[in-house]
Amino acid sequence: MKYKSSCLEKAFETIYSEKIIERGKTYYKNNLVKCCVVFKNKIYGKVVGGDLYNTVVDLEDYSGLCSCPYEYNCKHAYALIEAYLNKNYIDGDEIFNNLRKMSKEEILKILEDIIVKYNMWYEIIPKKGSLLEEGLSILKLIPYEEKNIYTFKSFLENRFLKNAKNEELLELLEEIGKSEYIEEDSERLYNIVDSLANEIFSRNNKNTIKKAFEISKKYKDKLWVIDDYYYDYYSDSEEDYYDYSKEFL
Ligand SMILES: [Zn+2]
Repeated sequence: MKYKSSCLEKAFETIYSEKIIERGKTYYKNNLVKCCVVFKNKIYGKVVGGDLYNTVVDLEDYSGLCSCPYEYNCKHAYALIEAYLNKNYIDGDEIFNNLRKMSKEEILKILEDIIVKYNMWYEIIPKKGSLLEEGLSILKLIPYEEKNIYTFKSFLENRFLKNAKNEELLELLEEIGKSEYIEEDSERLYNIVDSLANEIFSRNNKNTIKKAFEISKKYKDKLWVIDDYYYDYYSDSEEDYYDYSKEFL
């Protein structure tokens, strides 16, 4: 697991106050981190507080989501970071490697126990509404409670980006451009557009990229990140680059 100290320092400065860091460290030292698993660039954990909280920290920017009343970037999230920095974590891949060694029946039994215990039937049954509709609904909730932007971000990262069709990526991008819910200069908006752009460009579909570029021209103030991706993408092939950009001069 890579450890990005500069990014970490920045995360400390911007999202965790000194007080939170101090409390998080105390939580860690007092063994209140009950489980810490690193899996696909995220730290997952259970941290004891008023309750046993579910906490997830994104290793890209060290932002944390938590089931505690504080909800994000809290002392529980920091306590997990502290466990991670002290190399006190379990590798999630290892857990899956162990599962691979089990029989289908054993795995099914584990699955059944989890579904029944946590009432997760909804998660495994086929859904009617599309992913895009779900995303748009969360986007609309942002003006009511600003923290919904974090819900939106995890929805994007955990479900939408992996599963959305190209058209759906573009449609959500356009909705974000139109939306008046997110401030233009916010870092959160940047992160959201950046993760969408990253997905669009890494799919390497020229038609989708062209459309994304067109959309970004309509909503320059919000979607300027797409420009950066676009010019990087075509910096190797000048021909394509000029073909596409001419239309927007
Ligand atoms: Zn918390």
